[in-house]
Amino acid sequence: MRLSARARAMSPSPTMAIDAKTKQMMAEGIDVVNFSVGEPDFDTPEHIKQAGIKAITEGQTKYTPAAGTLTLRKAICEKLLKDNGLAYKPEQIVVSNGAKQSLYNAFQVLLDPGDEVIIQAPYWVSYPEMVKLAGGVPVVIETNESNGFKMTPDMIRPKLTPRTRAINLNSPSNPTGAVYTRQELEALANFAVEHDLMIVTDEMYEKLVYGGVQHISIASFSAEVKARTITVNGMSKAFAMTGWRMGYTASETIYAKAMADLQSQSTSGASSISQVAATQALVGPQEPIEVMRQEFDRRRQHMMERINRIPGWKVAVAPEGAFYLFPSVKDVFGKTIRGRTINTSDDLAAVILEEARVAVVPGSGFGAPDFIRFSYATSMERIEAGLDRIESLMQEAH
Ligand SMILES: *Cc1c(COP(=O)(O)O)cnc(C)c1O
Repeated sequence: MRLSARARAMSPSPTMAIDAKTKQMMAEGIDVVNFSVGEPDFDTPEHIKQAGIKAITEGQTKYTPAAGTLTLRKAICEKLLKDNGLAYKPEQIVVSNGAKQSLYNAFQVLLDPGDEVIIQAPYWVSYPEMVKLAGGVPVVIETNESNGFKMTPDMIRPKLTPRTRAINLNSPSNPTGAVYTRQELEALANFAVEHDLMIVTDEMYEKLVYGGVQHISIASFSAEVKARTITVNGMSKAFAMTGWRMGYTASETIYAKAMADLQSQSTSGASSISQVAATQALVGPQEPIEVMRQEFDRRRQHMMERINRIPGWKVAVAPEGAFYLFPSVKDVFGKTIRGRTINTSDDLAAVILEEARVAVVPGSGFGAPDFIRFSYATSMERIEAGLDRIESLMQEAH
């Protein structure tokens, strides 16, 4: 028995692994507070669900064009123009089974073996793996609290080689919640033009920004920048639609055509039913997004305050977007809890899960082993319960 080199080189998503262990404990009847999830706790808004049901009863249950229905792609074009100042034609949009597949497609059509992609750490767990699956080489730029978890051209320059093909961006960021300002993005855009690099920008959390912060789409700066950018977005986070699997890209036609062809030979495109629901999400009332955003903001502030009171834990940079807190826990390393020595964030996450029955994600999977990721896509009651448990467990650390 033998697996391909590609399969052997692959590591499973660590967030999915924690989630599986948590769900297994829950299935055994253990009451676990789950701060590891990367999905909104809210239900999909009713009008979107109804659109999906109607799609089934009306028989919209057949193959669609591989790139998605024209109706949905037109709705996406209107959204991009209105929200992001981006003018695209429907043939430049490719709808996929979640933004995760959109990102996968993007790297597949951009990279030749050995091509390098600039990725900042802490990163969303899947970027390096997706780059590797496309034969590319992830080149990681370390960021930390002192630079607000953001990279600058000066940090990238020493890592440039003749093989550098693209810069990967994720603002607002999962896991840090960092949001790049217009100026910071402009500097990166100019750098990409200067060095003839592509930009793959993951804007999944654009709707979830706090404290008056504004999300900017890097492709909106100029035609020159837009021509080298693949913008990735989707329905999962903004509309609480993770299970519907709806994501999309906007790019120059040459890349869109290649991604659509890739889909035509691999998945045949996304679910027809989900596409009807996604269209309704985009053209229907947008109020549910704001209701969720405000609730996330309330939890963000409360959770941050409580985490910062735990000795050795520190959210040094307040997140301005997404729904995660990413405290540093390195001051806990070397301490002992219930006879177990904590040397890494993996150790700490394991002790918290087993002894306090709270699921969190260690930073190692995000390329940031001194940190732990908390999701606040959980009700305020569960947030209180989980933090009570962690607080009392951490009092035993010595
Ligand atoms: C959740 C997430 C995605 C993918 O979401 P889909 O459900 O596949 O649309 C992509 N990027 C980031 C940063 C995410 O957190």
